[in-house]
Amino acid sequence: MAATRDYYEILGVSRDISDADLKKAYRKLALKYHPDRNKGDESAAERFKEVSEAYEVLSDAEKRKVYDQYGHDGLRGRGFSGASAQHARDIFESFFGGGGLDSVFEGLFGGGGGGRRGGPRRGSHLRVAVQIGLKDAYTGTTRTLTIQRRENCSTCDGSGAKPGTTPETCSTCHGRGQVQRQQGFFMMQTPCPACRGAGQTITDPCTACLGGGLVKTDADIEIRIPAGIESGQQLRVQGEGEPGEKGGPRGDLYCVVQVEEHSFLARDGDNLLCEVPVTYPQLVLGGQVDIPTLEGTKTLKIPAGTQSGRVLRMRGQGMPSVRGFGHGDLLVRVQLHTPAKVSGREKELVEELRELEGTAPSSTQKSFFDKVKDLFD
Ligand SMILES: [Zn+2]
Ligand SMILES: [Zn+2]
Repeated sequence: MAATRDYYEILGVSRDISDADLKKAYRKLALKYHPDRNKGDESAAERFKEVSEAYEVLSDAEKRKVYDQYGHDGLRGRGFSGASAQHARDIFESFFGGGGLDSVFEGLFGGGGGGRRGGPRRGSHLRVAVQIGLKDAYTGTTRTLTIQRRENCSTCDGSGAKPGTTPETCSTCHGRGQVQRQQGFFMMQTPCPACRGAGQTITDPCTACLGGGLVKTDADIEIRIPAGIESGQQLRVQGEGEPGEKGGPRGDLYCVVQVEEHSFLARDGDNLLCEVPVTYPQLVLGGQVDIPTLEGTKTLKIPAGTQSGRVLRMRGQGMPSVRGFGHGDLLVRVQLHTPAKVSGREKELVEELRELEGTAPSSTQKSFFDKVKDLFD
């Protein structure tokens, strides 16, 4: 996440800007930097993302308030993670009403040929969440999700008209799906209000889909989740969204992966962290402990003279990188376990140890008291 620039500065607006002016500023910059108009220009793509992210925050009263008070950190603390390239496009499309850049420009500048609204249109994107365990994130996994999405109605083949009848050409827009309207210097094209942009009207609607042409169905989709995936990452399954209109492509399915917390292993990027209790003799004399890793139990060597609280590294025992390069490490903090109660032989030995130490103060105690004394000197 590169964007730590001030959101107001990114949009070139003042901090007390009104919602209407904010929209104008976003509209101008989003059109200027849209990746489809700046093919291969990385810096434009980056600017597009920044502008989208800034707009997303400032156009949302609640996020804007948090940002004004606490800045970027405040938003991150509330789980806002900024705009990915795809997310930036989604913001753009929801602003301009879908259909991508082409239809935006046709809408603004009158377009060539016209009638595009009544032509092919891409289907809606869908979004689902899936939860997996840490072990599944470690190995990678596949999940079959049952999603509900709309499909072309089989009774009317998606036309929306009762079988045996056909939709009629809209008399308001003459099938173009758009009507023209003067706004300022421009002739604006807007979706036809009579047929809502379809170019056709249905007088005798199909009873199965009530004229919409789509019916809700359940679909089983297999999702391959790569090893090393992190919570919040999103997978795109191309063409598994809703069907397009009039031969347009299907939308995509976005699958947001949540990785559940593990009872023993915590995660920090590709590294795993855990804490194990060890005994005093293990720390003093050295020893071995069994560590439950994601690949079964492994032995960790504790060097003689290890301090309690020290972190030992088990190389390559962390999570695999989702990009496919190697593994992180497993970081094990060894923590001295003090028994609540000792008895019998064990108690005798500990008492003996105390007497031994009593005759010759340990070096660590000496240096500790030296330090404390320094504080008051
Ligand atoms: Zn139907
Ligand atoms: Zn019409």
